[in-house]
Amino acid sequence: MAQQVNYDLVIVGGGMAGCILAARIAEHGRHPRSGEKLRIALLEAGPYLKGAPRPGYGIPSRRQLFTNVSHEFSENNRYSMPGGARILGGSSMHYGAQAFPPFPADYGNWVSATGVDWTIGNLRKAAEEVRQVFNVHSDPEEIISEGQRRFRNAARSLGYQVRPLEGAKKNCIRSGFCNAANMCKYDAKMSSLLTHVPAAEEHGVEIIPDTMVEKILFNGKKATGVMCRQGTQQTLFEGDKIILSGGTVQTPLLLWKSGFGSADRLGSNTLINNPNVGRHAHAHLGLFLRSLFPDPIKEGDRGWNAGTFVISDIKPNSHDRLLIQDSGMGGQESPSQTALSEFAPEFGPEHKTFMKSAAKRMGRTSIWIVPGELEGTLDEAGNIVYPEANPTELGRVREGVERATEIMKKMGATRVTPIGRAMRGLFHPHALGTCRAGTDPRTSVTDPHFRAHDADNLFICDGSVIPRTGTGNSGMVVATVATFAAQRMVQDHFS
Ligand SMILES: Cc1cc2nc3c(=O)[nH]c(=O)nc-3n(C[C@H](O)[C@H](O)[C@H](O)COP(=O)(O)OP(=O)(O)OC[C@H]3O[C@@H](n4cnc5c(N)ncnc54)[C@H](O)[C@@H]3O)c2cc1C
Repeated sequence: MAQQVNYDLVIVGGGMAGCILAARIAEHGRHPRSGEKLRIALLEAGPYLKGAPRPGYGIPSRRQLFTNVSHEFSENNRYSMPGGARILGGSSMHYGAQAFPPFPADYGNWVSATGVDWTIGNLRKAAEEVRQVFNVHSDPEEIISEGQRRFRNAARSLGYQVRPLEGAKKNCIRSGFCNAANMCKYDAKMSSLLTHVPAAEEHGVEIIPDTMVEKILFNGKKATGVMCRQGTQQTLFEGDKIILSGGTVQTPLLLWKSGFGSADRLGSNTLINNPNVGRHAHAHLGLFLRSLFPDPIKEGDRGWNAGTFVISDIKPNSHDRLLIQDSGMGGQESPSQTALSEFAPEFGPEHKTFMKSAAKRMGRTSIWIVPGELEGTLDEAGNIVYPEANPTELGRVREGVERATEIMKKMGATRVTPIGRAMRGLFHPHALGTCRAGTDPRTSVTDPHFRAHDADNLFICDGSVIPRTGTGNSGMVVATVATFAAQRMVQDHFS
């Protein structure tokens, strides 16, 4: 017999979006009839690493857990699941904290894709709040690396408008520990665990970790609660309202498990038919391009955070927008990447000599395209499968490689990854949109107010509702939309 508990609001998933929603709705919302504070449960599949934030210092329990165990925190570990992290704070715990708040063209892309009224004006307040709370800032000149300086100068001399890349960190001591999807043991990386969980607790949110939501329960078209597994125990959390915040991959998977999705896929298990669940995934088309310099361009503790980037547009609303970023021109290349790079000689004495200096002589740029059309589809295992990109999109990637090669040669690189090899490394980072919001229920899953089109009391807010990926990495985009969603939900339902 499952245990049963009741709340005004149940939030599924305490990641980037879930923690923001919990904190802001608890702080500003009131029960619409009684005027009392809301009873909110935040259900998170992973653990809660408790402790007041101490940016730049960390706390002993988190520090000990994160020390020298980088592989422990990679994609396939016990704190991960398909699509991202499984821990309170979600993927913001192990993101790189490279901060790209939405660009004007990104808002335009969302509006033109599905008609949502998520305009720059409507989200201005949310974007300003995120910038302040996540301490989004560029680095001072003193900690820019030689490679970053050269990238900036070379790009400028080639006629680009060079923009500063920002980071979401506070009191960062530049240990470099964050770069390979690791959690920050010094609390310097601004995750939602640090930025929003303290406020959520202060305003009475009940944070319930180690709780895997297995099913949303429906009475007809009305969502009534969620069934969870807590160790060996099953618990039913009933909620007047339910928000799904499990992320781009887990939210559609949970909907499918609950009978909400395409009838063609779910067959006799279909309770609510909406073919858009798990479709319309939109991600960057991206790759990394390496280069080798005759002299050191990195000084170890410099340039870990932020450098610069350039953008090239051919269409409005960021369609086929190209971004080239000096993502690997500071810090140091990891020994394993250096040892196995395309520039490394065969193992032997020459390889040994190469390894003595190569980590400081090797640079890397990231090249992202915001595809105009390319969309992927989720499968049951949590993989997003993409068709072949169209010729314009592929042409833009090739152009990106050529432009980045020109910049790195201008910086003094003697070797750059050849274009054929670089193109083989094409991948699809920063996927969003698998339960996209829109004005037409035939082509979307929620309305612009985050309400599921086809079910009462059910809301979705995480990366999955954002119809198009942004110009850069997705963290600040999700944070901005979640901050806006909290404002909308308070206005619509909790005041
Ligand atoms: C390795 C990595 C590096 C990244 N680097 C950057 C970067 O440098 N800059 C940037 O801006 N962005 C970056 N990102 C992206 C950014 O972290 C995400 O866009 C953002 O965290 C997504 O927020 P979300 O709320 O949609 O999902 P998440 O933050 O992933 O949160 C989802 C949460 O839901 C929980 N959950 C899921 N299903 C269930 C369930 N059934 N029951 C209970 N709980 C559940 C999960 O455990 C998780 O905590 C990175 C992401 C990754 C994975």
